[in-house]
Amino acid sequence: MERLEYTRNQQAADVLASHYGRTPVAFVRSFGCQQSVNDGERLKGVLEDVGFTIAEEADGADVILFNTCAVREHAEQRAFGNIGALKALKDQNPALLIGVCGCMTEQKAVVDKIKKSYPYVDMALGANVADELPAILVEKLTTRKKALRVPQKRETIVEDIPQKRASGIKAFLPIMYGCDNYCSYCIVPYVRGRERSRKPAAIQKEFEELLAAGYKDITLLGQNVNSYGKGLKEKLDFSDLLTQLAAVPGEYKLRFMTSHPKDATRKMIDTIAENPRLCKHVHLPIQSGSNNILSRMNRKYAVEDYLALVKYAKETCPEMTFSTDIMVGFPGETEEDFEETMQLCKEVGFTQIFTFIYSKRSGTKAAELPDETTHRAKAARITRLKAQQEEQIADVAKGWLGKTYVCLVEGPARDDKTLLSARLDNNATVEFAGDKALVGHFVPITMQSIKGAILQGTLKQN
Ligand code: SAH
Ligand code: SF4
Repeated sequence: MERLEYTRNQQAADVLASHYGRTPVAFVRSFGCQQSVNDGERLKGVLEDVGFTIAEEADGADVILFNTCAVREHAEQRAFGNIGALKALKDQNPALLIGVCGCMTEQKAVVDKIKKSYPYVDMALGANVADELPAILVEKLTTRKKALRVPQKRETIVEDIPQKRASGIKAFLPIMYGCDNYCSYCIVPYVRGRERSRKPAAIQKEFEELLAAGYKDITLLGQNVNSYGKGLKEKLDFSDLLTQLAAVPGEYKLRFMTSHPKDATRKMIDTIAENPRLCKHVHLPIQSGSNNILSRMNRKYAVEDYLALVKYAKETCPEMTFSTDIMVGFPGETEEDFEETMQLCKEVGFTQIFTFIYSKRSGTKAAELPDETTHRAKAARITRLKAQQEEQIADVAKGWLGKTYVCLVEGPARDDKTLLSARLDNNATVEFAGDKALVGHFVPITMQSIKGAILQGTLKQN
């Protein structure tokens, strides 16, 4: 597998400067998971590096990039809707360059559809393209070739790509790319390619740079962080990487996602328990509480394995909490299977459940399975699960009320801008009254009540 270092494409920067004769403007919009958001931050970083200003709106931009998600059909439909809306901008400004990149454009059918139905799109760019973007833009501007640039799957790791991060407090730090797991419903291995780990030294360097720049909450990213290290010369696993990173001095919190239950270990739990810089929270997607469904999903663990790990975690570190992803309506899921999922969620007491209705992705194994449950029945299951979770989180949160936790102040509260919003270790949000100067700092907050999933607290004065 090829590993490259990013270097600024000065030649492209010069061509772009003389072509526009002013500072050109780019707009990048990302859809989907944290990895996609981080890819978008790289696209912006590279564009800025070769002379673009990054705009907050598409209107008036010289280059528009849509960085897309392919995990569910709904995400794709929404992206196509948004791409359709760009036609008006292209009509107003024929010099506008429009690019679609990310997971959707790694599928031939999508590129064909763009060619056929969205002829004003100039580029289809794939999911691993940031470093090549300046050269591609120059090629487009100088040749104005009509054809779309159809991406080739690229599994290269490119280090040191500049990033324009959305926040100055929280940052994503990818430790690996791709996925080899082939869960039967999932498109990710087809669009993101083989699993590949970044070298620990490159991760460490970026991590230290983030801390030096003042970041306080860093999330390590990967589709299955627990298999980090496979194929590397350096002999270390994910827990070793956590230990190595969290040894760097400073006041910060380290999180990660996503853990895969088949590879999550007791060693990882011990590592989290021992280090105060590691958040006592694991996002551990179980998908279903039925072993029959898990096996058909090709998840390679049983409910009993999952519960045993959670039990071990709670014994080792009582304050450790879990969140999860649940997929409802996988082909063949019966009411009994779903009841088992409800039961499992009750038993674990998740702090957060992200629920998804199964979406058929062509090319995956599950797409061949008969799916007889109606969308309505699936939606009804989700509603039941959400209602149960709402009751349960109120119960779980009772254990937090009256207690004081050190939280990172992230900014103004979502609805009431007179309040501030802070995050607990366990990823829960608390709103409280305080001075704006606290943003970016860790402060002790006493939890007073909970409304929906949001806690209300008061700043503890010493
Ligand atoms: N690598 C992570 C998840 C990545 S996708 C893991 O294995 O846990 C994030 C979530 O999207 C998944 O956990 C799953 O619940 C959901 N998802 C993936 N493919 C889906 C599909 N075809 N339909 C509906 N939800 C899906
Ligand atoms: Fe998809 Fe499974 Fe890989 Fe997660 S582990 S990205 S669900 S194939």
